[in-house]
Amino acid sequence: MYQGNTGTYRSSGFSGGRSRGNSSGQSRSSSNGGGRSSSYGGGSSSSSSGGGSSYGRNSGGNRRSYSSGGGHFGGRRSGGRGGRFQSKGLSYDKYISKATPVAEAVKYVPQHKFSEFDLEPILKANIIRKKYENPTPIQDMTVPHILAGRDVIGLASTGSGKTAAFLIPMINKTLKSINEKVLIICPTRELATQIEDELRQFAAGTRVRAAVVIGGMSMGNQFRMLRTNPQFVIATPGRLMDMYERQAINLLSFNNVILDEVDRMLDMGFLQDIKFLISKLKTEKQTLFFSATLDRASETIANTLLKNPVKVELQKTEGAKSIEQDIVKVGGANKVDVLHDILIKPETVKTLIFTKTKRGSDKLTYELKDRGFKVDSIHGDKTQFKRDMVISKFKTNAITVLVATDVAARGLDIPDITHVINYDEPATYEDYVHRIGRTGRIGKKGTALTFVS
Ligand code: AMP
Repeated sequence: MYQGNTGTYRSSGFSGGRSRGNSSGQSRSSSNGGGRSSSYGGGSSSSSSGGGSSYGRNSGGNRRSYSSGGGHFGGRRSGGRGGRFQSKGLSYDKYISKATPVAEAVKYVPQHKFSEFDLEPILKANIIRKKYENPTPIQDMTVPHILAGRDVIGLASTGSGKTAAFLIPMINKTLKSINEKVLIICPTRELATQIEDELRQFAAGTRVRAAVVIGGMSMGNQFRMLRTNPQFVIATPGRLMDMYERQAINLLSFNNVILDEVDRMLDMGFLQDIKFLISKLKTEKQTLFFSATLDRASETIANTLLKNPVKVELQKTEGAKSIEQDIVKVGGANKVDVLHDILIKPETVKTLIFTKTKRGSDKLTYELKDRGFKVDSIHGDKTQFKRDMVISKFKTNAITVLVATDVAARGLDIPDITHVINYDEPATYEDYVHRIGRTGRIGKKGTALTFVS
């Protein structure tokens, strides 16, 4: 932890995630018994309202101080082991971790090259066009098994490149045989849209088509798209159930299923829906199961759904190592003022702020707008259209601050977010890991700050 002005680094060595896999920091692999359908045809700024606040890194190294109007917020711990800040059972130590400089991090050496995978030439060309040079660890370790037709459990979170890990071999399969149909079930609309986006790029110039079946979008459009019998359907569980009940989708025609972010889907209460939907698919099928964690509930699902799966486990610290994590002790200060001071720092280029409630996120957005920040918000009460628009504005830097609730922001893939700020503490440690994973994406360094009272 960083201590205000005195700046003594006393982090308790939280490694940014529960340790998984082997100690080499890499992985192990083991075998244990809106309705869009598209055809793919080829082809910082910060504002200031003035006012004596500072947030900065001391020239002497890693020390930082947060101050606002003369008060310092340095994440000071209230003394020793017995005196940790506590919140809902979470120790604040968990929010503090020094990033490992990129040069010091153990660099993963892939066992394969994309060119070595037995992929259709057009898919290889599209991978090159996407400028992917080497497979990420999860891709390196799962793609060969998926190509070989095995069921796979991949334990990896967003930011690890898991989307391409399942899309590349599945697109290859659909290119080889017209009879292959792939159902991808994921927790949120944003994630579904992102998966479709990647699919469109990998499948450019091919006949592979996808329908996106998500809530918040016109059902009529989705009916029409499903009627065109696309090879890929990317869906959230609730809308997929609706579509099944209205007989708009023939699940029996699907012989491949991908469950993405299973832990999150379980958190959202989709267990029964998922089990039901999967029971309606072809019996003979390939099943891929991706989850950031594998607790007892998700393991039970995995055991019932997968046949003799290959299990690939990425050490969770991989991503978190590139994220500098710290707490900001607000004390009696005005929370928005403290946030303001952080946002006006030159290093705070693009910031994602998490609030607990939809109302809280709207309120904070208005407040920040008033102060001159380029800000907008996304949460469950906004229409999909509005959410997509806001995300697009954030991607193109038309806004540089995005305020979000957990449900809206999970799985967001925006590569250049410099800061994640937990304006309100996350409800669980899992939520924390997912929130901060929006920064420090592949090869970049990020900062995660958690406001504590
Ligand atoms: P994901 O974990 O699937 O959300 O991917 C995170 C980000 O990594 C996305 O922006 C991907 O486009 C990018 N990505 C995935 N695989 C690779 C790769 N092999 N090389 C470079 N970037 C990649």
